[in-house]
Amino acid sequence: SFITFEGIDGSGKSTQVHRLADHLRARGHDVVITREPGGSPGAEEIRALVLQGDPDRWSAETEILLFTAARRDHMERLIGPALAAGKTVICDRFADSTRMYQGLSRGDLRAVVDQLHSLMIGREPDLTVLIDMDPATGLERALARQTADERFEAFGAGLQQAMRAGFLALAEEFRDRFRVVDGGRDIDTVAADIAAIADNALA
Ligand code: C5P
Repeated sequence: SFITFEGIDGSGKSTQVHRLADHLRARGHDVVITREPGGSPGAEEIRALVLQGDPDRWSAETEILLFTAARRDHMERLIGPALAAGKTVICDRFADSTRMYQGLSRGDLRAVVDQLHSLMIGREPDLTVLIDMDPATGLERALARQTADERFEAFGAGLQQAMRAGFLALAEEFRDRFRVVDGGRDIDTVAADIAAIADNALA
């Protein structure tokens, strides 16, 4: 099965990805953890090209092509083979992040993102966990662990709110595969919720 995690910066995705992997491994699943942008050597190189350095280096359209190229490599080299081998793949961000960040933050490019996705990627996750979180809390958490080699989206509060609303709308649009979890609670409570959701989906 292919499980993805989505949410705004600082929503606690990577912590919960690891918690879910521990849970599923204890139940006998062969779990692969990965992330986007990146996840394969080529895609990690593209991640560095996009997220490091001058944020205005690439146009919005070029950035979509780079993210799609990275995802294609990630699918070819890691996600596709792992799924074919019967493994459970848990990915920290996937195409829904591109639908939001590249599709929404620099103009309305959602249709471009979707067309490139169907042309070059095709596959959607079996289950997407959206960790919903108040942007003020998310921003605080994201700023606290920001590192120099990462572009941090210097989103104002308004754009963070738009991203949160956008993710919630996406969860409605793809309601068959999305589950929304309240990320404002303590880590163990959120992890227990997600474990139950995944057990249900994989049963
Ligand atoms: O999820 P992670 O913290 O690794 O994301 C790194 C940065 O890349 C974040 O600031 C996120 O907002 C940004 N990002 C992006 N477009 C994507 C995925 C992530 O701008 N498609």
